[in-house]
Amino acid sequence: MSLSSLASVSIIRCPTYEGKMLASGLRKAIDLLGCLEQFVRPQQKVLVKVNHLSPSSAAERGIVTHPAFVEQVLIILKESGVSRIRVGDDLGLSSADGFSVSGLRQVCERLGVELLNFQQTGFSKVYIPQGKVLKETHLAKALMEADVVVNLPKFKTHSLTIFTGSVKNIYGFLPHGLRVSYHARFREEVQFHTLLADLFSVVRPSLNIMDAVVGMEGDGPANGDTRTIGLILASADAVALDRVALAVAGIDPEQVLYLRDAGERGLGVFQIESIKILGERLSDVQIKDFKASRVSLGIIRKWMPGFLFQAICRQLEARPKVIAAACRGCRMCEEVCPTGAIRVSSGLAWISGKQCIACMCCHEACRFAAIRPYRKLSGRLLSWGIQRVRHQMRRILNR
Ligand code: SF4
Ligand code: SF4
Repeated sequence: MSLSSLASVSIIRCPTYEGKMLASGLRKAIDLLGCLEQFVRPQQKVLVKVNHLSPSSAAERGIVTHPAFVEQVLIILKESGVSRIRVGDDLGLSSADGFSVSGLRQVCERLGVELLNFQQTGFSKVYIPQGKVLKETHLAKALMEADVVVNLPKFKTHSLTIFTGSVKNIYGFLPHGLRVSYHARFREEVQFHTLLADLFSVVRPSLNIMDAVVGMEGDGPANGDTRTIGLILASADAVALDRVALAVAGIDPEQVLYLRDAGERGLGVFQIESIKILGERLSDVQIKDFKASRVSLGIIRKWMPGFLFQAICRQLEARPKVIAAACRGCRMCEEVCPTGAIRVSSGLAWISGKQCIACMCCHEACRFAAIRPYRKLSGRLLSWGIQRVRHQMRRILNR
């Protein structure tokens, strides 16, 4: 594939999630880039990575890639002859099934496509040869099993990383516990952005199609306001796609350090002059009054002493706890644990806190409810307090 085709981004107008309109918009967005077979061949195993944050939320809240959007992409893939398709994301702990709440489960069932919560299918150790701050990590096994990734990010602001699009969506391949602990370990803003670029160096989707029909402005990725953007953006180059999305939103790209870093490493095209825009003209779709995030976690991280920030993250982390009375010693947890943190001896499971990355695969695997997620009382109180503070800050800023 030539460099010029890698740096092409298509922009198509699509004002609603109505099926026919979406289908036609998505086809146009892909066709402008060439043809689907250029990115995904029929015999390949395809993993469709959605952006599906936990806790659960209805699709209308603009937090997750809209299931109607995913549905039309799946139909296009199937009609082009791709039969081995899986859809997935890593959903954290929640009483409700997040996939059902958003409607994604119903879509996948209707189309006969396998839907995965990476927490249930497990993680594998991966080395990052080009890593600057991260030399190894754990990524979803489903990713290793796929030939290609079709990335379906959502157009949203992010209180920590300014914007979350195609490149940031890769972070969802990590287990939830590890994601939390990286926030503590890579506390400096620059470090965290470098970490995202490190991850992107080993996970490169073949095709990225952004759900920018309804996006999120303000305090994204979960507490902002929905905003009709009315667009579908597509590209084989995730960096170029995100760079164009920033231009649509009017966000200063120099603030989005991980994107610039990825561009400087040659992982994609960051300079807007080097990106070929197809379909709508950029100047016709730019939003003049798009609201960036006002509650910047980056500022809080910078201002707060390191030890305090790390202590807070540790409190917020949910860890697995063995309920001895329920454990049958079946070793299922031992088998699924990606880090070897669990040992079963004398019929009882035991977890090494040092080795545990809090991915919660053991919790999912245990058929006897003998492993439960556990957050200390201080963590539960802290979580409640943070929500209150954020709520108050938004009220003040909205006055
Ligand atoms: S899977 Fe559950 S019951 Fe089996 S050993 Fe592990 S904790 Fe015990
Ligand atoms: S002990 Fe459980 S939560 Fe910890 S790494 Fe192993 S499977 Fe994941």
